[in-house]
Order: sequence, then C-alpha cells, then structure tokens
Amino acid sequence: MKPARALFPVVAIGAAASCASNSSPASQPNIILIVADDLGLGDVSCYGSTTISTPNIDRLAVEGLRMNNAYATSSTSTPSRFGLFTGMYPWRTPEARILPGDAPLLIDPSTPTLPKMMQELGYSTAAVGKWHLGMGYGKTDWNKQIDPPGNSVGFDYTNLIPATVDRVPTVYVENGKVLGLNDDDPILVDYDNNFPGEPTALTNPEMMEVEWHHGHQGTIVNGIPRIGFMKGGQEARWKDDEMADYFLSKAKNFIIGQKDNPFFLYYGLHQPHVPRVPNERFEGSSGLGPRGDSVVEADWCVGQLVECLDSLGLLDNTLIIFTSDNGAVLQDGYKDEAVELAEKMGHDPDNGLRGGKYSLFDAGTHIPFIVYWKNHVKPAVSTAWFCQMDLYSTLGEYLGGKVANGLDSVSYVDVLFGNSLSGGREIQILEAQGRLALRHGDFVYIPAYKGEKINEALVELGCNEKETLWNLSEDPFQQKDLSVEFPDVLKNMREEFLGIVGSSYNPGFEAEPLQ
Ligand code: CA
Repeated sequence: MKPARALFPVVAIGAAASCASNSSPASQPNIILIVADDLGLGDVSCYGSTTISTPNIDRLAVEGLRMNNAYATSSTSTPSRFGLFTGMYPWRTPEARILPGDAPLLIDPSTPTLPKMMQELGYSTAAVGKWHLGMGYGKTDWNKQIDPPGNSVGFDYTNLIPATVDRVPTVYVENGKVLGLNDDDPILVDYDNNFPGEPTALTNPEMMEVEWHHGHQGTIVNGIPRIGFMKGGQEARWKDDEMADYFLSKAKNFIIGQKDNPFFLYYGLHQPHVPRVPNERFEGSSGLGPRGDSVVEADWCVGQLVECLDSLGLLDNTLIIFTSDNGAVLQDGYKDEAVELAEKMGHDPDNGLRGGKYSLFDAGTHIPFIVYWKNHVKPAVSTAWFCQMDLYSTLGEYLGGKVANGLDSVSYVDVLFGNSLSGGREIQILEAQGRLALRHGDFVYIPAYKGEKINEALVELGCNEKETLWNLSEDPFQQKDLSVEFPDVLKNMREEFLGIVGSSYNPGFEAEPLQ
C-alpha cells in the first residue's frame, strides 16, 4: 500500500539515525505494551493531529518506529484485546464480543497466550489498567477471591478495572480481590435489573453531574450514570479523576520491583474511553473538552512511565510498544461536548479515515502503533502492514519463545523492529461487532450486511445491502465503491473471504445493538 501523504504527514526525525538495528536479542529486553482505549490516529500529534499535542507519545514515535499501516483485529475493545493476547482472530470465538462488566473470563485457561509465553521465557508479567476480558468463572461473586485473570491468561500480577470505565462494578481488582471493600457493604451487580432503591439515571436524574446520551442509564457512581446496576461497595468505588494516577503508580511500582529481572507489562490506559474524566490538572488543556483533555492526560502518563524507566537506567533495555485497541469515537454515550468541540476546533480523531470505533470501514481497526527501543530500533516511518495479534508470534520468534501451533498470528520480526519498512501482511479479516470483512493487499471486501448504517455513536458501520469493494491505496478515505467496476476482484475476494471464514458463514444477520 502506498503511503497516503495527506493522511500521514512526515514527521521530522529528531534523533540521529545512526543507532544499530538489532535483529537478534542480545539479552531479554523488558517489554511494555501500552494500549490506549478508543484512541484514533488523529488524536496524537505524531500522526498528524494539529489540535492535540502529545509530546510524550510523539517522542516514542520520533525516536522510534512509527507504523502507518498497523491494525487491530477488531473495532471494539473485547475482541481486539482477545486477539492481541491469544494471537487468534476473535471471530473464531463467538463469545468474543463486547462483554458486560460481570462476564466470566473470556479466555479459556487452556488457551496459549502471549503473556504465558513470556512467563515461560522467565519474564515477570503484569497487567495494569483496562481489561474487559471478563473475570473468574461462572457468576462472579465480587466479595470473594476471584480467580485472578493472570492465573489463566499468564499475568503474575494484575490490577485492573473489570471492563470499561462506563461499566459496573466500578472497582479496582488486584490479583482477583476487590480493593477497599468493606465486608459490611457487599457488592452486588446485575446487568438486567436494578436493585430496589438504588439511584439510576432514570430514577434520580438530579444526581447526575454528567448527562447520558445513549446506553448509560444505569447506576450513578460519582455523579456519572453507567452501564449496568450495582449496589454496595461504596468504599471500594474508584474515583474517576484519580484513575490515571492510580494505574500509573501501579505500573511504576511493578517496574521498580522488577528492575533487575526481565519483565512484561501490559499497561491498559483507560483514556479516552467514556466517561472522560481527566484529573483536574488536565482540565482545559486541549481546548477540546474532556475527551481531548483525557488524551493529554494519557500522554502525560506515557511520559511519566518513560521517565521512570530512564531514571532506573532501563530505557535501552526496554522495548516499548504504544497502540490503541480500536479506532476513535466522539459521541459514545455521554453529553460531553466531544462532537461539538471537535467540530469547532477542526479535530478529526480518525485523520479522515471512514468509520471509527464499531466500524468495518478503515478507521475501525487502523490504529496508531509505535515501537520504541532506545539504541535498538532506528527512527523511521513504516508502511509495512502489521496486525496487533502478530505480536505473539513475532516476539516469540525474536525471543526464542514457544509459540503455539495453529495461530492466526504471523511473525514479522523485521517489520516490528524496523529492519523492513514495507511488506508484512498481505491479508487480514477485519471484525466489527461480529461482522467481518476481508482486506487483501490494497483491496477491502465488505459483504452485504443488514442493519443500521450509522449507529447512535454517529459512526458509519459499513453495513450495506450490497457487497462493497474499496481500494485503500488509491482511496484511503473509502469514498468510491469499486464493486461494479471490478466484478472479477469482487468475486475473487468473496470466494477468498468465504474460504477463510467458512462457506456456512451467514453475513445477513442484524448488527449487534450498540454498547
Ligand atoms: Ca476500545
């Protein structure tokens, strides 16, 4: 695919490009995988945003490898992170859809995973921050020890929010235990029915400090209505505006504690997912309201983490990967002025790409991806096609780890470390809330899908009553459907698509309800 100049302006490379590139590990570098939540290409200045300044993320990109053609497997959190950790397409697991906050663990304990491989290589592993892959088995009792996700997925230490910031229960869970829980005030969670007398957006709108737009009419916590219903656990409930500092401190503590051993840290930033509640230190910092301010806060967190590594002398022994789980969305359920202020300031969180979070169009899965390793990865800009799920096989090959057979993950060591700035994947199935599409080379084939074309989040989903065909090289913004002009390409891609996903696949189902 040709680099789309309008899409990805060239960023000045500040550091000298004299660092030797390393294609074999001299030792076991620490690995930090930072995954933002719903952050789009246009939200960070190194990918061209002129409306939000992200100097700390930019530093990683300018001094490291900025990938312009990197993809998540899916356009929503749960399946995207499932793919990232398992190296498998999430659509092969029908349950890998957006989970409620009380869902059991999605990843079967017998499943090979990237963090398990890191453990086998002798790494200490930790997951901190946003999770959204379920916890425990069966119906979770939040008042007892929950089987820590780490036990089954491969993390020695976990400190997580169960799902998203907009879903109950709004508590931190450290190694399977709800933090700060008072035994006299047990937590109950229900995703169908409210608990009698508990305030919700519908029963007690006067308690709301943030109004909901759609989908968030459940329990009110900290003045913010959430998805789902929760009772009890008052002392354990997180403070939204303190979450960034909280998880940053946990991430830093883990690094400091493991500074003498190889470690693998998954740091799931909760920003800029709704509800966007940055600390007051960042209020007004972007001019774009809470969403933009929360991106500035996330950037600050990245800077603090890098500073911590630098102070410990670990920067040249730590591979840092920064990415996002899916594309951006502005209106995702609260009246937080994200749409209005983006329009006013000319902020396009997806850099002009069509669609966004939830979408089969390119902005759904086309995400920022930056690889930084001081003195090992040269400053460069890459157009090689890499999918997040490829990390598993790629790191496995690079580190000499045992990669499970039969994964969808493919190893591209030269791509990840910037020795090859083109190439990589030739094919990928894209997923959006159970709907699938095929990208092969520059072409994207989207089957016919019933259902709404634009959802409540104002995102074009990619649903169309007829199949569509797009050329991302010539038409990166997907404005021209080529299905009539190139019937042979359409036919070939349809056959290839069905050959991969199975001829029994029925693309005609309705889109999932939004949430
Ligand atoms: Ca997400």
